[in-house]
Amino acid sequence: MRVCPEPIRTGGSTGAVASRTVKVIAIDGPAGSGKSTIARRLADRLGLDYLDTGAMYRAVTFAALRRGIDPADGADVAAIVGDLELEVGPDGVVVDGVDATIEIRGPEVTRAVSLVAANPEVRTDMVRRQRAWTVERGGGVLEGRDIGSVVFPDALLKVYLTARPEVRAARRSKEVADLDYETVATDLARRDALDQGRDESPLVEADDAVVVDTSDLSVDEIVASLVERVGAP
Ligand code: C5P
Repeated sequence: MRVCPEPIRTGGSTGAVASRTVKVIAIDGPAGSGKSTIARRLADRLGLDYLDTGAMYRAVTFAALRRGIDPADGADVAAIVGDLELEVGPDGVVVDGVDATIEIRGPEVTRAVSLVAANPEVRTDMVRRQRAWTVERGGGVLEGRDIGSVVFPDALLKVYLTARPEVRAARRSKEVADLDYETVATDLARRDALDQGRDESPLVEADDAVVVDTSDLSVDEIVASLVERVGAP
């Protein structure tokens, strides 16, 4: 599957970008809504690269924890973000030369990530890197929480995926073998509340997003209908 043949090596320059000049598909939604599966498949069908922006926020959280920084300490977290070397690609995530592919999905990072993602300096830096990644490739399928609302407000197609809370929790608890359903469901609800309630780029449905409840639909059905909307072969 063609996902992202070259890892994102971020830290370079960029600025605002007109997403009209690049083919951008924005996939937003809460945890467990099916973003990664659908975004990967859609990227494959459209011949575009795929970027998991959640992995970037997780990577910053990993870096902060590894350095003994309290994720709630906004100034300390902000102080490290600009110089971080992040590589986010199909084979994993490397932070300052350390393979963090497994750790970024672990409970410690998962619990702290929404706090780090609410930090305005972190968001500014991540958005800059996401735009640079996309411009370098002439487009891409990006999944996250603010892609259609903030990162690429004039994306070619904006999709907001959702699913019933119990469906999302069941999907996530299948992925994390060491945590029971109740713990996963509670963590998910807490993260949803933080992501939706923060001041900086909260999780919202962009006005012109196609909203899809994935609870009772197959991946094939959803991908086929999105491909049709883009008008690609
Ligand atoms: O997608 P994933 O669940 O891995 O994202 C982890 C966290 O990163 C989210 O709960 C959210 O706090 C943050 N995030 C964000 N903006 C994005 C992507 C993720 O704030 N574009």
